Amino acid sequence: MLIETRALTKHFRIGSHQILHAVDGITLSIQENEILGLVGESGSGKSTFGKTLVGLYDRTSGEAFYNGVPLPAKFKSKDHLTYSREMQMIFQDPYSSLNPRMTVLDIIGEGLVLPGTHSRSEIHEKVAYWLEKVGLHPDHMSRYPHEFSGGQRQRIGIARAMIIEPRFVVCDEPISALDVSVQAQIINLLDELKESIGLTLLFIAHDLSMVRYVSHRMAVMYLGTLVEIGPSNELFFDPQHPYTQLLIESNPEPDPVLERSRPHTPIKGEITSPINVKPGCRFVDRCPRAMAHCSHETPEFIATSKDRYVACHLFS
Ligand code: SF4
Repeated sequence: MLIETRALTKHFRIGSHQILHAVDGITLSIQENEILGLVGESGSGKSTFGKTLVGLYDRTSGEAFYNGVPLPAKFKSKDHLTYSREMQMIFQDPYSSLNPRMTVLDIIGEGLVLPGTHSRSEIHEKVAYWLEKVGLHPDHMSRYPHEFSGGQRQRIGIARAMIIEPRFVVCDEPISALDVSVQAQIINLLDELKESIGLTLLFIAHDLSMVRYVSHRMAVMYLGTLVEIGPSNELFFDPQHPYTQLLIESNPEPDPVLERSRPHTPIKGEITSPINVKPGCRFVDRCPRAMAHCSHETPEFIATSKDRYVACHLFS
């Protein structure tokens, strides 16, 4: 197993009395060369989970392992240096994640400067290689981020992450800020890189069709907890948790003929506040199949078949 988390939890304190339960006890594993898709509405805790895993946020409790080695709950500078060579992150917003005052050469080559193992000419050569690999031109390295389109900036962000040759990459909604046509190009690029350099990815997104296309397994989060996990096609075509069912029904189908023939049941209401959450199933206020005990008994995460797990009293 390359990545493993046990009851990983990240809370944020708000004022002196309130706790925001961003991530609450996530247990999952990702095998080498696997792509795990992580889906859920905005506010479900997906990005916070990814950032906590790679040390951008301190862990509140629980455990995380990289290749069997425990990761620190709070990364110090030396941990960032050690693990940034192994784990990288591609960010959601290609506009704000690139320093506007740095050239493309300095942005992409930055990760090679820190360890002090590459000469300036080696960095130049590697940046040129990665610019070509992500579909840009080596001449682009003297330019600044504002000279590029959104899709090109995301390609620069991908090159910045990949030049370190990490084994594990968290892709945090890498396509959601881009036009639909550019989204497909970025997905195809990640697909090619996955094949050519054997990456392990945590792919965070809210477009389930896209996640199904790129990932081997999908995990569904709701209000800081995992509600379902399983092989992508099985989960997409036979969702078990009521939340997953509604999430898939409300996801637009790209084919207009199929889209018209599908059932449409919008999810009622808004995701509940993650501040000072109550015991019981967190989906109870919006669940069309809720039972009396759902509001006070927290469902266990249980296996329903080989490789499929769900947290819902309908299966316990
Ligand atoms: Fe719905 Fe109850 Fe299952 Fe929660 S535990 S998803 S409220 S049926």
